[in-house]
Amino acid sequence: MREVDYNTIVDAVARLCMEANYFLGDDVVKVLKQALEKEESETGKDVLGQLLENAEIARTEKIPICQDCGFAVVFLEMGEDTHVKGNIISAINDGVKKGYTEGYLRKSIVSDPVKGKNTGDNTPAIVHTTIVPGDKIKITVAPKGGGSENMSEVKMMKPADGIEGVKNFVIDRVTRSSSNPCPPTVIGVGIGGTFEYVAFLAKKALLRDIGQRNPDPFYADVERELLEKINNLGIGPMGLGGRTTALDVFIEVHPRHIASFPVAVNTNCHAARHKTIVI
Ligand code: SF4
Repeated sequence: MREVDYNTIVDAVARLCMEANYFLGDDVVKVLKQALEKEESETGKDVLGQLLENAEIARTEKIPICQDCGFAVVFLEMGEDTHVKGNIISAINDGVKKGYTEGYLRKSIVSDPVKGKNTGDNTPAIVHTTIVPGDKIKITVAPKGGGSENMSEVKMMKPADGIEGVKNFVIDRVTRSSSNPCPPTVIGVGIGGTFEYVAFLAKKALLRDIGQRNPDPFYADVERELLEKINNLGIGPMGLGGRTTALDVFIEVHPRHIASFPVAVNTNCHAARHKTIVI
């Protein structure tokens, strides 16, 4: 059994919170540059240029890409042969507290959804834990802004709705979202599982690098088709018109009950942030 110190987790999570908020992923920067080359709308080009400039300022000056530094959503893959000296969830929360405080990141969490006031340190994090073989700990911090999260939805569809029903739901969701999630967006789609699990699938889908297709050719084709259809909607960068409405669409699937067909859309904004460490 490998032992890992509590503060190793705290420091790693703190660093990930800061890096995710300062440094837009190379994959996102690359596809934004490609979109700038291809965009037909002058306003759309102008917006894409500003988003790239914003990302570059954030990177060089180590300031947040966006004022909304997000809910700290953490994906934890815990090797079954590893033991953390202390409670790992507490360590993650202490890391979020440290990262958001020392990194001057906006604190956006209220302690109770109805009565609460700001917790002051952006805790608690949302932690999704998976136990995996081996003695490594993989931690991904994916700060999630409120504007794009609010444009997400779960729908309990009928099995007979099939893949065409899924496509119609995704397109309808993106159309209704319009400029609200700060496009160009990344669209995560979950299909299958249960009511709560399908939302997790849609969130997990957002962790993929831009351009990384579903390994099943059937779903890879649906991802391509949806991306093309979304970019033909004309919403454009920040909703001001153009062909760059989404940067990618990712689908994650899971077995389902014979009577159920859950589908979820989780929307991410142009500040599609996530950083990972393996300890
Ligand atoms: S949706 Fe994204 S880019 Fe827009 S305000 Fe929220 S975090 Fe910032």
